[in-house]
Amino acid sequence: MKTIGILGSTGSIGEQTLEVVRNHPGEYRISALAVMGNIDKLYEQMIEFQPSILAVYKEDKAIELKERIIAGNIPNPPEVYHGLEGLIAIATSTGNNLLVNAVVGSVGLVPTIKGIEAGKNIALANKETLVVAGELVMKKIKEHGVTMTPIDSEHSAIFQCLQGEEGKSLDKIILTASGGPFRTWKKEDIEKATFREALKHPNWNMGRKISIDSATMMNKGLEVIEAKWLFDVEADRIETIVHPESIIHSMVEFHDTSVIAQMGVPDMKVPIQYALSFPKRLKAEYETLDLRKVAALHFEQTDRDRFPCLQLAYDALEIGGTMPAVLNGANEVLVEAYLEGKISFYGISDGIRQAMDAHEAFHYTTMEEILEVDRWSRDYVRKALK
Ligand code: MG
Repeated sequence: MKTIGILGSTGSIGEQTLEVVRNHPGEYRISALAVMGNIDKLYEQMIEFQPSILAVYKEDKAIELKERIIAGNIPNPPEVYHGLEGLIAIATSTGNNLLVNAVVGSVGLVPTIKGIEAGKNIALANKETLVVAGELVMKKIKEHGVTMTPIDSEHSAIFQCLQGEEGKSLDKIILTASGGPFRTWKKEDIEKATFREALKHPNWNMGRKISIDSATMMNKGLEVIEAKWLFDVEADRIETIVHPESIIHSMVEFHDTSVIAQMGVPDMKVPIQYALSFPKRLKAEYETLDLRKVAALHFEQTDRDRFPCLQLAYDALEIGGTMPAVLNGANEVLVEAYLEGKISFYGISDGIRQAMDAHEAFHYTTMEEILEVDRWSRDYVRKALK
């Protein structure tokens, strides 16, 4: 039996992870849950899954939850923690042997590193963790002899395609992108797009931050950086291609020119389940792929002019060192500003470019150094927004 801790259990990936657990009661048990602030949903999850420890990032919400637990007369009430310390308590708690990191943004970095140091295997949905500190995280993974299985559908696809293959025979990674809601839009129309239009993703049901990242194609950019670290492949061998049907979740090309793709109906429960069950595959009753219904698969060149965020991500990766952390920190602040109606769509990429231009990248070796860069980037963008 695998015992699981989840960081971000009330978000889109967190809830679907719990659904996978619900579908396989003999395989998994939930021991620890952490959320940002949604204690209504967390309370329901607590009743259903009976974890022994909970964390709520926001302190006032954590206090409110404790009061509710007392008032509810819950038998064997769980311990409740708060703040970053709370997330770390979940990540390192002795009750779980697999940590699912499904939080949004670089707040997931420190708990992930602490979890690795505590010997936890990691199932990673939080791509920002690898974007910000991929080199450090992968070094820790090796040092502590734990596994990292990707939840992101593209990386799950690549991970599956590479099973049983030798690393040196891999020539190329081909990341597929749906193209997002503005795939067919002209640049001048995208410029004026409201965040409501940007939130309408054609194929995937996702949280707000990743939906905007998908509209700007920063999501694909972050995934290129994530792929570099997960699979130890240089940027010039990671391609992106638009594939509007989202049936092929990604591909790999080997040095004998053979290409292997992983396919399926777009449903995040499939990669989540594989990340939990790896190296096994568990039976499941999700919708099966009917290619007659799909009829045709299409492919287009990715457009870095209409979607400059994708170019910025390649630039950050090429510069290396601390630059991807600057890209990510700036993006997180600017996506929030866009969601609040404070900047236009291209204000996101313009703001990231400014932060990157103002930063002198260097090679970091510690978590403290990279967290300092993350803070600098956010502060720089916030000041520029005023
Ligand atoms: Mg993805």
